[in-house]
Amino acid sequence: MSVHIAVDVGGTQLRAASYLPESLNPLKLDKIPTQGPDGSPLDRLKKLIASVIPENDTVSAIGVAAPGAVNPYQGIIHTAPNIPGWTNLALGPDLQSFFDTPVYIGNDANMAALAEWQYGAGRGHHHLIYITVSTGIGTGVIIDDRLLLGVSGLATEMGHVTVMMDGPMCGCGLRGHIEAFASGTAIAKYVEEELAKGIQSILPERTRLSAKDVAAAAYQGDQLSITAFQRAGRVLGIGLANYLHIFNPSIIIIGGGVSRSGEILFGPMRASLEENVLSSQYLDGLTLTSSTLGDEVGLLGALALARSLPGN
Ligand SMILES: [Zn+2]
Repeated sequence: MSVHIAVDVGGTQLRAASYLPESLNPLKLDKIPTQGPDGSPLDRLKKLIASVIPENDTVSAIGVAAPGAVNPYQGIIHTAPNIPGWTNLALGPDLQSFFDTPVYIGNDANMAALAEWQYGAGRGHHHLIYITVSTGIGTGVIIDDRLLLGVSGLATEMGHVTVMMDGPMCGCGLRGHIEAFASGTAIAKYVEEELAKGIQSILPERTRLSAKDVAAAAYQGDQLSITAFQRAGRVLGIGLANYLHIFNPSIIIIGGGVSRSGEILFGPMRASLEENVLSSQYLDGLTLTSSTLGDEVGLLGALALARSLPGN
């Protein structure tokens, strides 16, 4: 038999799985830390992929979901946050010659959009926006049943849309981006800075906080934590309203760890979206929902990509 291989590259974990045609249940699935004592992340990735190819089976295509700036046309990873040495890495051509099979690479948020559209909450929709809110913010947009990539594959980065001139510093080094207000990192950083100013809270000062800590405190009624999520939700709502004006989708799917914070984020986000949208027609029939694929979203997106290759 011939199998498809799906690969999900993360800063902390590498995952790979093999699938028979038409199936979403992996024949073999394995995951390992991205960095370890025995070899570079690239060597580890190759070993991992080889380990999930079933004996006596051939590989018809490999799909890879990769973090950071990816050129899907050339299979090049320009920058991969948290993976040392992965700068302008020709991962696609390298894997293609190593495994002697077609390889296609996509940005992880784009792959998540593909997965939700093909296999998840977005099935049956032709115009879809996927947004992941975790340590950073990523987006993928499908319009007229096609993933929007742009000339270099770098299209639709909602996280780096500017919402405030000279605003807070974003992880990318520029200021006032949506990610600088609404990512998990930004939510925690805002609370840490307010605590340092002496604002009252049940959260401890001078410790490294996570968005999860802030969410838990918000649900206990902590005003500072509630304010942090209101601020994040408000900015996300503005970003989504902008995207509705540009793309006019029928569904918005929200994934990523911070989206599991629930109503403390979704409440202000919905209110802000409704407040900032140009006319109610954009909201007519619009579905706003959570991702249904969870941790599998990257692998399933890579699988959808492998299957979308000509002849697969
Ligand atoms: Zn940015």
